[in-house]
Amino acid sequence: MDPAVIGTPISLLQIPESVKDQIGRDLAAGSSSTTFTQDGLSVDSLKTELSHDDSTSVEANDVQVGWACPGCSNVFQRESMLMAHQKAVCTSINGSFGLIQTHYRCSLCECDCGSQRDFKTHLTTSDHLKKRSD
Ligand SMILES: [Zn+2]
Ligand SMILES: [Zn+2]
Repeated sequence: MDPAVIGTPISLLQIPESVKDQIGRDLAAGSSSTTFTQDGLSVDSLKTELSHDDSTSVEANDVQVGWACPGCSNVFQRESMLMAHQKAVCTSINGSFGLIQTHYRCSLCECDCGSQRDFKTHLTTSDHLKKRSD
């Protein structure tokens, strides 16, 4: 069978164990979605580490990055792939569980970073520094 129809187990996702636990827990609890960051940290905790000027340019940007099957908990990158899966594999299951990733967004440059480390690197780029001085 086409591996795309099977999906990806949560355990194989490129995210911290704590986030995998959270996804599994919310899915098992029957929630419709869960929100997480790629590094398991939060926008608020990033703000506390930045200077006042930098902290005002960081905001949360939530994007749905995955659709999980409530039947087998495997994850798909598109809703259409989940629907194909439920037609072929989990035929008695309907609906989806949303994996919503919060990105660290720079409101000055309108760009998203997946981790706090990436955001801090972004703050040192010439593009960002130029925007900041404009
Ligand atoms: Zn399934
Ligand atoms: Zn920026």
